[in-house]
This record gives sequence, structure tokens and C-alpha cells, in this order.
Amino acid sequence: MNMFKKFNGEWCVVSNDPTGSTVIVTKRNGTRSTVVLGERVAPGIYRIAPAARPAAAAAEAVGDLSRIVAMFDRARQHLRMPAIVLDGFRVNIAGERAREPGSLTITSVDAGYGGRRTWLGRVTLAGTFEPGRGAPADLGARLRAFAADPAGVAAEFGRLHGKCCFCRRALTDERSTAVGYGPDCAENFGLAWGSRDAAPSLPRSAPVAPLDLGPARGTALSRARAATRTYLAEQAAAVQAGQPIEDEPFECDGTPDTPRYANDGRY
Ligand SMILES: [Zn+2]
Repeated sequence: MNMFKKFNGEWCVVSNDPTGSTVIVTKRNGTRSTVVLGERVAPGIYRIAPAARPAAAAAEAVGDLSRIVAMFDRARQHLRMPAIVLDGFRVNIAGERAREPGSLTITSVDAGYGGRRTWLGRVTLAGTFEPGRGAPADLGARLRAFAADPAGVAAEFGRLHGKCCFCRRALTDERSTAVGYGPDCAENFGLAWGSRDAAPSLPRSAPVAPLDLGPARGTALSRARAATRTYLAEQAAAVQAGQPIEDEPFECDGTPDTPRYANDGRY
């Protein structure tokens, strides 16, 4: 059985396994630890190898941060610690006591155990993303998209989640969902809201192309429906063109095969 043993003042492991093995060591109180056997210091006694930590991904350029920095500069006139929350990450400006004051701090959205957010990396003022160990693989690409078009990415977030990307409150006004943030946060961050300068919202309804069933295709009912659609489309076109609509656009001619209403007399 593997066990801890102090050797020359250093905690080591007594084991029958060779250096490099991952072994389970039972402590005196019965709990177990998993360690990797390091250098052999005496027969059957090994140093504990330092735990291998997953390597952080390589740094990558995410581009010009001036738009984001300008947004935060403006916000800091109104807010003590402005932040923007996007899909899966949160961005704020590193304070004066940070390793690189003014750089972008990227963390998880929610605070985890101990009330701290997970560090996902930093974007230096030169626009280089230095990912932390917990950073998702596509975070660099998402930051690049954000740097290129902060307002556009914010708007996308707002439309997708119905929440303000700055304060995370629900957006109810469609002028807010169109841009991804509410009027107060727009003011704080110096962004357009509720005007034509704001990101355009999607049209409410796109025109539907008429369905051409061709002559004598489909059932009587489907042809009747098609005829109704054609009639309604003609009417709509007439209204748009400013033409008067006939009061009685057609008369029953008693021919059941050429109905103009969906109810072609069969019910
Ligand atoms: Zn807000």
C-alpha cells in the first residue's frame, strides 16, 4: 500500500511503483489522495511530482479594441464597475491594481464557489487575447467578433436572450430588444437607442410569395383556397395602388369547378 512518509524533512511517498506512476495514497486518517510519483530519493521512496496543470491556449490577436474601450470609458463616467455580459463570458476593464490596468478582463458570467468568477483571460491594450486555463476554445473568435462590432454583438445577445447585455435585466420594449440593451444602459455606454441610428430590427412580416398551383392541379378545395389567395392578393395590390375595390368582385355563376371561396358549396 502507498503511504506518505517524511524523508529529509520533505513529504514523500512510499510505493512499489516506479517514477511517473499515478498512485492512490491512503493517509493515516483514512482519506485518500491521488499523486504522481516523482524522483526516487531512496529505495521505494519518491518525491511527489508537481500536479500537472492543463496548459493555457496560446495567445491570439483579436483586433482593434478602440470601440470597446471607448464604450467603457464613457460608462465609467456613470458607473463604478461597468461590465458587459455576452454569451458565456463577461467583459470589464481591469482596474489600476491589475497586472495590466485598462486591459479587458474576461471572466465567466456567474460567480462560482466562493463568490468569484472564473478567470477566462485578458485582452491586452494591444489587442492580444491571453486565454486563461478555463477559456473555451472559441473564445478568441468570439472576442474578435465583439471587438469588430461591439454594438452588433450586443444586439444579437439581446435579441437571443431578451436581456440587457449590460445590466442583465429583461428587455420588454422592442426598441431595446432590437439593440440588445435598454435606454438607461444605452445612455451610460453612449450607444444609440430607439432611433434610426440604432441597429435595425427585423421587419415584422416579410411579404409572402404567391403560390402558383397552375391550372387544374390539386383538389377542388386546394384550388378554391388558391383562388381565395389570388383574390386577396389582388385586393391588397389594388389597395396599395390606391384603386377602389369592387364591392361585389364576383358573382356565383353556379359552376362548382371554378370556386373563388374556400367554401365552394360543399359544406
Ligand atoms: Zn441594462
